[in-house]
Amino acid sequence: MSSNTDFLLSIENLTVSFDGFKAIEGLNLYMDKNELRVIIGPNGAGKTTLLDMVCGKTRASEGSIKFKGKELTRMREHRIVWEGVGRKFQTPSIYEELTVFDNLEVSYPQGRGVLGALAFKRDVQVLRRIHEVANEIQLENRLEEPAGLLSHGQKQWLEIGMLLIQDPELLMLDEPVAGMSVSEREETAKLLRKIAQGRSVIVIEHDMEFVASLGGKVTVLHQGKILAEGDMQALKQDKRVIDVYLGH
Ligand code: ADP
Ligand code: MG
Repeated sequence: MSSNTDFLLSIENLTVSFDGFKAIEGLNLYMDKNELRVIIGPNGAGKTTLLDMVCGKTRASEGSIKFKGKELTRMREHRIVWEGVGRKFQTPSIYEELTVFDNLEVSYPQGRGVLGALAFKRDVQVLRRIHEVANEIQLENRLEEPAGLLSHGQKQWLEIGMLLIQDPELLMLDEPVAGMSVSEREETAKLLRKIAQGRSVIVIEHDMEFVASLGGKVTVLHQGKILAEGDMQALKQDKRVIDVYLGH
């Protein structure tokens, strides 16, 4: 099979083996620009491992991951971020003692160190971007508060904001609504649909109501392989999917 460079992300024959156990095996997955994709599947299916491989944290034993036509499997993690891939882990990793503003500011790409008028121009840009993102994640009126005072859901949004401020073309989120209240889940679904209008998003999720409310194409992972792919309505009728996942 030849790689189609029109895809934003094209994963082919991806395999990783941990001491002989294949957590991901011969996986093919293609994603378009501005696509919102949900990955579901039982515990241990390989969902987190797949994200680890795309962001360079875990190295492939075989196969290819192309992002905008560039091979990621041999690229360093920071370089993959630089290419435009952002990844959120399951537990929020924010700086609790810093303000919301400072959390966003430290995540803005490129260090300081520019001088005079240039530095001023940059500060205006950074400030504008911080307010834009804070507005998007609904934390604009909390900017001066220590992040540690936010609710669990708001901390998750702040971490999403810390990725958004880097303007990634692909954003990957591992179980972003775990532990959130019902209203926080609804807000998060809205936020992710909005975020996906200008970039591609991969979301791993267990909450089927949340998955349905996102409305994107769903990939079902099982034992390191793709079991099925399609919209949620179709997958609900798929016997294989019911047997390994939805039926439980
Ligand atoms: P999921 O996120 O779908 O629940 P994971 O990707 O975390 O699943 O794990 C898939 C399988 O790979 C599990 O059986 C897990 O124990 C195993 N695994 C993941 N990472 C490692 C590792 N670094 N070393 C050994 N086994 C691993
Ligand atoms: Mg996982």
